[in-house]
Amino acid sequence: MSQRACNDSNRFANQLTDLYKLNELTSTGILMTRTLSRYAKRLSSDSGTVQLMEDLGRADRFPGDAYRLGGGNPALIPEVIAILRDSMREIVDDAGRFSRFVGQYDSPRGNAMFIEVLCEMLRNTFGWAVGAEHVVLTNGSQASFGVLFNLFAGPYDDGLDRHIALPVVPEYVGYSDVGINERPLFRATVPRIELIGAHRFKYRLDLDQLVLTEDIAAICCSRPTNPSGNVLTDQEVATLAGLSREAGIPLIIDGAYGLPFPGIIFNEATPYWDDNTILCLSLSKLGLPGVRTGIVIAPPDIAELVRNANAINTLAPSRVGPELVTDLLRGNAITTLCKDVIRPYYAHRMHAVVEMIEHHMADLPVRIHEPEGAIFVWLWFEGLPIHSDALYRQLTDDGVFVIAGHHFFPGLQDAWQHSRECIRLNYANDLKMIETGIKIIARHVRAAYAEC
Ligand code: PLP
Repeated sequence: MSQRACNDSNRFANQLTDLYKLNELTSTGILMTRTLSRYAKRLSSDSGTVQLMEDLGRADRFPGDAYRLGGGNPALIPEVIAILRDSMREIVDDAGRFSRFVGQYDSPRGNAMFIEVLCEMLRNTFGWAVGAEHVVLTNGSQASFGVLFNLFAGPYDDGLDRHIALPVVPEYVGYSDVGINERPLFRATVPRIELIGAHRFKYRLDLDQLVLTEDIAAICCSRPTNPSGNVLTDQEVATLAGLSREAGIPLIIDGAYGLPFPGIIFNEATPYWDDNTILCLSLSKLGLPGVRTGIVIAPPDIAELVRNANAINTLAPSRVGPELVTDLLRGNAITTLCKDVIRPYYAHRMHAVVEMIEHHMADLPVRIHEPEGAIFVWLWFEGLPIHSDALYRQLTDDGVFVIAGHHFFPGLQDAWQHSRECIRLNYANDLKMIETGIKIIARHVRAAYAEC
């Protein structure tokens, strides 16, 4: 690094340190100078979700070369962008349609045409008994979870404080901070870790540990899982569906990367929904994170509550995503796009990045979680002598943006050393940039082991 870049980088590191100090202060003091509610104090505490979204901007402002392996941005896949541009052009060229597109609220349930076409596709393709009463759109599935988790978790009239069970952690960082109550929202089950060869591993649902006590109000799992890329097998999903039905609670499946679309799953898996399941989908990883569209497919009473939350909180969900994608759903062209373009695109990158890690980290005690889906690799540095947050900060100072693993373990009852030994890398970006980032990560990790 040149002297100037080095100085810039040090200045940036100091700014970051100041920011962390400020964060500490805000969670303990600064906000106290105002009179604010408990809810405001909850928003002032450290949040992995805020950190990861802010990092997207920080990477852009980094004075030297920045290596963007953090965040959840999907790739800009040329074929997908071309289809979306054509779709937008058709809307813009149709004066009446364009006027409604920008000039009218949709209903709080979301765009009626999109919902009708989606239901038809789901009935025809999978035989699911879904009608418009089961579906509600939101401004991104993050917003869906914000409503759903608060519907089920929290204080109840019978005096119980109920939770959402996460049957396998690590789980999606974005779940952690959406609770409007101060109590912990989640009860996590530590999975079994299956070691595979010298450098791979896989989390397995441990049914002996998953206990659905009376204070569990729903089960939730992402499939594929962000961050690990784990894909629960059809059998595991059927087991969870059976257990939740027996317990009289819903199973929430987060299909943000999964089935039926965008289908970023590299092994065999079947889409799942039944009348006790709440399936949360999103258009983001299909290539539309900027327009914010979430889709909830749920029992009608739950869909109605989410619809009401839309009306109360935002009046109506955006109609941009639904309008852009409705034609793709017609005749199920979306499935072909996912199978022929999106999945192979990410599969190619996943293989390339795994090879890079195996090459540049061959001397390190690293294990890669079986990369079965989503857009990340999840690395476990066994016995890592420093906390994953310390590693994250060192890497950020060097312009490498990753996500520290400890954020992905909400609802753990006991400390688990493993949760501090992992990091998540996004492989949607440029492969050359990723490879340089991986080399820098390897250097820092090597130094951490050498210093202990
Ligand atoms: N679920 C998972 C597993 C995710 O990774 C994300 C975003 O990265 C979301 C939900 C939320 O996505 P969005 O709000 O863009 O639909």
